[in-house]
Amino acid sequence: QTQEKSPHLAILPSPGMGHLIPLVELAKRLVGYHRFTLTIVVPTDGPPAKAMKSVLEGLPAAIDHVFLPPVNFDELPEDSKPETLIAVTIFRSLPALRHALTSLASRVSLVGLVVDIFGTDAFDVARELHISSFVFIASSAMSLSLTLYLPELHETTSCEYWELTDPVKIPGCLPISGKELLDPVQDRSNDAYEWTLHNAKRCRLADGIMINSFNELEPTAIWSLQEKGAGKLRVYPVGPLVNVEPSTKVDESNCLTWLDGQAHGSVLFVSFGSGGALSSHEMYELALGLEKSRQRFLWAVRRPNDKTANATYSRVDNQNDSPFDFLPDGFLDRTRDRGLVLYSWVPQAQILSHGSIGGFLTHCGWNSTLESVVNGVPLIAWPLYAEQKMNAFMLTEDTKAALRPKANENDIVEREEIARVVKALIDGEEGQKLRNRMKDLKKAALEAVSEDGASTKALAEVVYKWKSLICN
Ligand code: UDP
Repeated sequence: QTQEKSPHLAILPSPGMGHLIPLVELAKRLVGYHRFTLTIVVPTDGPPAKAMKSVLEGLPAAIDHVFLPPVNFDELPEDSKPETLIAVTIFRSLPALRHALTSLASRVSLVGLVVDIFGTDAFDVARELHISSFVFIASSAMSLSLTLYLPELHETTSCEYWELTDPVKIPGCLPISGKELLDPVQDRSNDAYEWTLHNAKRCRLADGIMINSFNELEPTAIWSLQEKGAGKLRVYPVGPLVNVEPSTKVDESNCLTWLDGQAHGSVLFVSFGSGGALSSHEMYELALGLEKSRQRFLWAVRRPNDKTANATYSRVDNQNDSPFDFLPDGFLDRTRDRGLVLYSWVPQAQILSHGSIGGFLTHCGWNSTLESVVNGVPLIAWPLYAEQKMNAFMLTEDTKAALRPKANENDIVEREEIARVVKALIDGEEGQKLRNRMKDLKKAALEAVSEDGASTKALAEVVYKWKSLICN
């Protein structure tokens, strides 16, 4: 009986582990601290990935999940951008979502729907069912600031943003070169741009917006959003919501055991998230740069892709390939005593919390960034796609917690430059400064999500809104 009275939320994550993981963390908090029950409604375009199933199946009983029937987008052009594929997946899943939510509402006290930035079309379904709609931004306050500013930027400029000679002044943020803005806005004639603008406009129709960030990490951007940037719309910084729990799963790759045998703070972790891919040339230089640096490293490697840096939707099946044939000849042998290279999904949250880790070379995906922050690990920023260049810019120029290697005129980061930044981060004075900065941020992050912390309070305000709906 009491179970039936618990407020129930539906969560609609857009495709991709980077969207699912923080929403799952939000769900866990709502169950653990606020006695909600939840259903994660997962849109799909095919059979769910193993990593996704394992996350969903390991959740507490109060968090249910349903997979919506796979949508088909075979008729879309081959070169459709990931943002288009994500948005189309959501859009074509709306009838199935309506069906799933209607059925839920007949069984539980459904009070709201939470979507990420790609899910704003689902607001209409929420409205039909008289439930609230919240957006959870699985990225920075800066990225929300750009989202809210984009319609104005769109109206007031006509050229491509990368052509702008003056930096773009996103409210509350350091002026940033148009080239560094998120990927899907770099080509105004592409469908991905239309979808991004569409969601940016609709975002304002939400009952509120949560961001996975906290005051000390982005003080001016958050202040600006709360004071004026979002108008009447309330913005709640509820982060950092990251997976920090030690997994009970076995360490299949033995990387944690390997880390146990390395000196404190001596290892660079190298990973480009769930879908990041380097080109063959970049991969070659990175391997030789790591070797040249003579530092220890743990590299979660993926097959290079010369067509796209975002291989999330790449349909190439690598399973039967000999995994390491794309690395320079002899690289593994020459680095065997100080490097571990893995070709699999790795327990990143646990790796970053291991004492042997001294730095993280990352694509600056927002979850990876936050996981590094909560563990006080300084960064080397190697952005690839989505809003990662904005994150890299912010982390390097504003937060001052990252080094960013310089690319040559062909946009390739050469091995000498890689060796230089890796040495500077793990073994240099510059690295020590960044490490100290990260330690302060770690402390602030833990405080923000502690019992009396600002992010905990912000989430409690949202919870209060939801709970008041159940009484009506
Ligand atoms: N991740 C992981 N193991 C891997 C690759 C990724 O656990 O081998 C997790 C990582 O810890 C993070 C998420 O997947 O929580 C990736 O999210 P992020 O926002 O960093 O990047 P995205 O994958 O969305 O580009």
